[in-house]
Amino acid sequence: MPREISFLNTLTRRHERFRTLEEGHARIYTCGPTVYNYVHIGNLRTFLFEDVLRRTLQAFGYRVTQVMNLTDIDDKTIRGAAEEGISLREFTDRYAAAFFEDIDTLGVERAEHYPRATEYVPQMVELVQRLRERGHAYDSDGSVYFRIATFPGYGKLSGIDPEAVKIGARVDSDEYQRDDARDFVLWKASRPGEPSWDAELGAGRPGWHLECSAMGMALLGESFDIHTGAVDNIFPHHENEIAQSEGATGVPFVHTWLHSEHLVVEGQKMAKSLGNFFTLRDLLEREHDPLAIRYLLVSVPYRQKLNFTFDGLHAATAAVERFANTRRRLVHTPAATGEGELSGEAVEERREEFDAALADDLNTARGLGVLHTLMTQVNQALDGAGIAGPVTAQLEQVLDHAHAVLGVVPPPAAASDLEAEVAGLIAERNAARKARDFARADTIRDGLAARGIVLEDTPHGTVWHRKG
Ligand code: AMP
Ligand code: ZN
Repeated sequence: MPREISFLNTLTRRHERFRTLEEGHARIYTCGPTVYNYVHIGNLRTFLFEDVLRRTLQAFGYRVTQVMNLTDIDDKTIRGAAEEGISLREFTDRYAAAFFEDIDTLGVERAEHYPRATEYVPQMVELVQRLRERGHAYDSDGSVYFRIATFPGYGKLSGIDPEAVKIGARVDSDEYQRDDARDFVLWKASRPGEPSWDAELGAGRPGWHLECSAMGMALLGESFDIHTGAVDNIFPHHENEIAQSEGATGVPFVHTWLHSEHLVVEGQKMAKSLGNFFTLRDLLEREHDPLAIRYLLVSVPYRQKLNFTFDGLHAATAAVERFANTRRRLVHTPAATGEGELSGEAVEERREEFDAALADDLNTARGLGVLHTLMTQVNQALDGAGIAGPVTAQLEQVLDHAHAVLGVVPPPAAASDLEAEVAGLIAERNAARKARDFARADTIRDGLAARGIVLEDTPHGTVWHRKG
């Protein structure tokens, strides 16, 4: 039985205990990137929330099937390819590859499926046909529209007032505002210079909203557990997905809807015109550590706005350094001979607190707070009577668990070249000291210090950490 977890469901506006449709199996659909540009750190905030969601469910004992689509045909990708005068495929391949590179850099676990919209056009056409048969769709000028007046639940996710909807008015663009809710396009009539498919519906291409409904149902079934995105997806994208899917099937599309709040930069919306627009590549160019970027982006619970600042990034850098130093110290310090200073119960308590934080709608801030408390306890114990062998082993397990969930507490690189070299130098220094060759011992220590490696002689032997 998986561990219990609760979420704030956008659909019901309540904290709910999570239940899966199929015992122990969580099926998740996440709206992926529109591959027309490099992703920015706001997009990455959302992808990291989804990564923590998947990792938490797995650590809690669920089997996860996650689908993340790549939107490779919509108004934006078509415009981008046309501007460069290259094929849509060539254009979107470039940004899809960049997307995978970026999520790998941040340690995002791969989903089970990354469908491309252009590979699911037959399923999209079939969905439109079902909607037509059930009286939810109509044709106009070669395009097909969803008639929102035929779907009484329209507005249930976003809370828009169905009365305010402009009956009969239509919208063709993929993106529009809440106060402009209208019949939206399912299938767009072919236009000169745009890719199009010859379908029974008439030559054309899918609307963006249709794409996610078709891919979600094709890979996860007509009803599944979780659908995620950022708050800007709630209306119209997800509202329309519900209308199309439930209009076609008559069964609930998704049970739990989770939406992350936006990332803002120094308190402002991120915009090229404001000069505060950052991709991951921009931050790497400035030599920021991917692990610190990840830490910062997961450190605020997903339902709260994340204010990205360079001060915050520096603090995140210090935090991941502290985690790394403590883990290294733990590995390199010989076990206490007696009971040591940290009890197994204390470690178990921290683990329980960590899990309880994540089980509470993924409260990552609280989870990180627990890890910092644990690190303080570890350092205090190592400064004092040390930590007994079995407790060290237990600590390693808890930290591995925390790393599996948040991805910010990696174990020290297994016997890296550096570690082997430092271990050799420490042994040589100890031998020199035994032989009372203090000049040689000091030379070794100073040589390491010049490289930012600090040796510490403790009652349990010599350990090292990086300065900082
Ligand atoms: P897009 O590539 O524009 O379709 O966006 C990919 C994902 O990033 C979507 O789920 C968006 O809602 C989300 N997103 C866009 N802007 C932000 C932002 N500033 N903060 C957080 N998430 C965002
Ligand atoms: Zn979507």
